[in-house]
Amino acid sequence: MARIVHGPPFAAVVFDCDSTLSSIEGIEELTAEHPEISALTAEAMAGRVPLEEVYGRRLELAGPLAADMERIARRYEATAIAGAAELIAALHHLGKRVEIVSGGLLPAVRPFGVQLGVPAAGIHAVDVEFDTSGAYVDYDRGSPLARAGGKRELLAERFPAGDVVLVGDGATDLEAKDACARFIAFTAVERRPDVVEGADVEVSQADHAALLPHLVSAEEVEVLRAAPGGRFEGLLARLEGEQP
Ligand SMILES: [Mg+2]
Repeated sequence: MARIVHGPPFAAVVFDCDSTLSSIEGIEELTAEHPEISALTAEAMAGRVPLEEVYGRRLELAGPLAADMERIARRYEATAIAGAAELIAALHHLGKRVEIVSGGLLPAVRPFGVQLGVPAAGIHAVDVEFDTSGAYVDYDRGSPLARAGGKRELLAERFPAGDVVLVGDGATDLEAKDACARFIAFTAVERRPDVVEGADVEVSQADHAALLPHLVSAEEVEVLRAAPGGRFEGLLARLEGEQP
């Protein structure tokens, strides 16, 4: 399918999780300083090794416990990018489908996404199995999100018309560009030159208010301005603050 590139309005907005909705890489929270895990993550996110080559290895090294999932969810919440929940509420107000597509661990990404206001059914990540004592057994080896090209597959399946904008920071996000009308590199946490080069737009401010003009049309901004109770005033004020 040929890529149909267009500007806003878009029917749907999809966010990556790690280093996009939150400033951490969840998997690195499993152990205090683990140089090998950090190195594997950096290699995969830079696109130097395919994700499937590092996915299982990182989990074996980290040996996650069921209890770690809740802890990582809290860390995601504590390190959420400013404006993320407000932006998601604004997109919902405009009637858009908002989803999260992440190569992170579902039991940690899901509660964080739900807290940001994304419906659980629209949160996609890699599920993990634990035994009754809470020890790690395996990850969902069938998940497309644990392998290279998987985000593209999942997006093409969920948004067959391609009327979707994707916001992400990594090589696996850039790979999904062909399935989207617009790919935005969010570089406030990690700036990867190859991803920026391949992106349609770069947003470097550490406030998701800065994403708004790239996600919605001028008419849609007016709809937000007219929302009852000035609900999106804070988000819009920050947007105006950065305009020339
Ligand atoms: Mg990421």
